[in-house]
Amino acid sequence: MIAVVGIGPGGKETMTLEAIEAIENADIIVGYKTYIKLIEDMLIDKEVMQNGMRQEVERCKEAIEIAKTGKNVAVISSGDSGIYGMAGLILELATKEETKIEVKVIPGVTASIAAAGILGAPIMHDFCHISLSDLLTPWKVIEKRLRLAAQADFVICLYNPRSRGRKDHLEKAFNIMREFKSGDTPVGIVKDAGREGEEKIICTFDTMNYEVVDMTTMVVIGNKSTFIHEDFMITPRGYTV
Ligand code: SAH
Repeated sequence: MIAVVGIGPGGKETMTLEAIEAIENADIIVGYKTYIKLIEDMLIDKEVMQNGMRQEVERCKEAIEIAKTGKNVAVISSGDSGIYGMAGLILELATKEETKIEVKVIPGVTASIAAAGILGAPIMHDFCHISLSDLLTPWKVIEKRLRLAAQADFVICLYNPRSRGRKDHLEKAFNIMREFKSGDTPVGIVKDAGREGEEKIICTFDTMNYEVVDMTTMVVIGNKSTFIHEDFMITPRGYTV
């Protein structure tokens, strides 16, 4: 049996009880080393298989092979395993197997939701997730989604906003959205939500500082009615108050 577990954004406090239980019940834990480190204290006496980034397919294939031997495997992703995590890949691979493999997907608190709590209530209305990573998605597709999401006035949560290899993606993304997002649109930036060194910045589309954003940052761009009050970012649901 394979449990694909979303461990939440940081430590044990933001993990669901179901996720904790799945990890406790597992014989072997499989995951990217940064995530393994986040839950280190839960892994005493457990077999752990960790590796680096961009080895996802091999890691998941191995997890399936181990599950076939009858062991309980927990494949961990940060946040939610079904949001840019391992759930899809595990299920895709499992469908190719001749013998049925039992897979259970255990949801977790994704980075946008963790960041939203820290920022106040920025995603109270219709919103979307867009990843700026073009490792698996062509940049043209990302550009199109940014433009149309901005035009539709969604609150936009950006995952993978800026890495060493893709330093200018975030600025490019803002330039595309600028056609539809006014300069005073609130923007919330949360670095390392729920982890050591958590940091929050609230600014506007025009005062955005791209340099503060890195790979463990969530960027939340408001819609036309989002406003800033003190250190909160608030998107009205539409109630008369
Ligand atoms: N499955 C994860 C997302 C993986 S994609 C989830 O559901 O959260 C990786 C991206 O998620 C990072 O580049 C960053 O944009 C965001 N992210 C993950 N953890 C974060 C955290 N603790 N704080 C802020 N952003 C985070």
